[in-house]
This record gives sequence, C-alpha cells and structure tokens, in this order.
Amino acid sequence: MQNQYNAVVKQLEDRLFVAHCPSLPACVGQGATPADAIAKLNDVIATFLQSRPQELLMKCYVPDCDVAPAFHFSGIESRRVVTEKYLCDAHAHNFFTDYRTSEFVAIGFPHDIPGAVCVDLEMIVYHLGDEDDPVCLYAHEVGGRRRLCFMTNAWSWWALMAQIKQQPSLRRHTHAAWASTITELGGQLHDVLLDRREGEDWWSAELRIAKDGSDIRIHARASDAYVLAVIHDVPIFVVESALERFADRGESQRREGAG
Ligand SMILES: [Zn+2]
Repeated sequence: MQNQYNAVVKQLEDRLFVAHCPSLPACVGQGATPADAIAKLNDVIATFLQSRPQELLMKCYVPDCDVAPAFHFSGIESRRVVTEKYLCDAHAHNFFTDYRTSEFVAIGFPHDIPGAVCVDLEMIVYHLGDEDDPVCLYAHEVGGRRRLCFMTNAWSWWALMAQIKQQPSLRRHTHAAWASTITELGGQLHDVLLDRREGEDWWSAELRIAKDGSDIRIHARASDAYVLAVIHDVPIFVVESALERFADRGESQRREGAG
C-alpha cells in the first residue's frame, strides 16, 4: 500500500503554481495549473522516497516514540548533508538543546580575510508543516567554537537543500540569476562577507567578485549570499565584531556567563 501525503498548493506572483509536501522536506513541484504542480510533486516524491525508508519519514526518529515528527534537522559537513533526523516536538527540543550546548572546534579549510572569520554551515532546522515559519541555519566558526544562527525562508531552504543534496532545483531562484549574471559578465565570486550592525535585526551581505584584476563588491541579501557561496563553493565570512556580538553560545554557557 502506498503512503498518502498532504500537499499544499500556492500560486506565486508570476502565476506559477507550486505544490509542496509539508512532511517531506525538499519535495516541491511546480506547474501552470494546480494539477500540473501536483503531478510534478508526485514525481519528485517518488524519486525522493527511492533513496530512504518511508517509515523514517512518518514517525519521530527516536526509537519507541510514535509521535509524528514536527521538525527536520539536517547535519551538514563540507556542504553535504551527513545526518537527517525527523523529530517530534519534545525530542526536537532535547536534540536542539544538546546541539546548542555541545562544544567542539569545527574543522575546515582556514580561509582568512582581515577583520572577518570564516564560517560554514553546520545544522539546518526546518519546522515541518509550516513553511511560513523561519528556517534556522546554524553556521560554525571554522577552527573555533562560536556558532551563529541565520534565519531564512522556505524558498532559500529548498534551494540550499537542492544544492547540497545535488538534486535539481525546480524553480529559478534569485540567487541562480545572481550566479549566471556573475559568470556571464566574466566575473568570479571569491567569497561572501556577512555583517550585522548593532541595533539591526537583519544580516547584510557583500558578494566579493574578482573581474579583470579588480575587486567588485555587490550588496545582496544574506540568504542569497550563503546559497550563492554554496553554489560556487567559496568561503563564507562574518565580520568579527558581528560574530562576537551575535554568537550563540548555548543556554548553559550563557548561564555560566551570567553568574
Ligand atoms: Zn519523539
């Protein structure tokens, strides 16, 4: 017997219909009509399920817990998904608390630019069933212990997951336009630099591009910048003062710091 999944269909500004399955992360279909979008989604789900046991998707990952999963966690190393967990609310809370208070030094190639620290993606937290909820991307300082959380939306998450899982992306995203524009104009992205000033509740980004021997800097949304960094396989930097100010040191360490 085949499993049934609920699908959500939405119409985009450009009149395309997009269908996605809240309980199956990264499964998205698009088409000119709702029926086309759902047909495409069915193809994508079939391909997706070929690579993993269905029972893992339908219940919490923790043995003996039969509660439906509420969160999806992707552990990332070297820009590839190395672990995936579907967890119910309670187990997600425990897992996330353990993750945030665990301390280790992240390995990686130590890139260096003055006044900034190299970070890389480490964990992505997605709230299943609610694509309007922000997606939390955790980056880890390469060669250090500090972590940062970036909030992004479901579209950036889908694009990022398609890239790091090497699956075809189903929709032209803004960052794909950035990528082809840079390349077609003869430039080469060498890194991205993220910053967040005091009092601002958003991250800004600069795409740092080399072209004809000169350095070009283009302002971009942070969410586009780190997806682009992954597509082009270039380092992600965070301004040192912003990293220090916004580093997530986990609840227990924060309590120690307060004492
Ligand atoms: Zn559970």
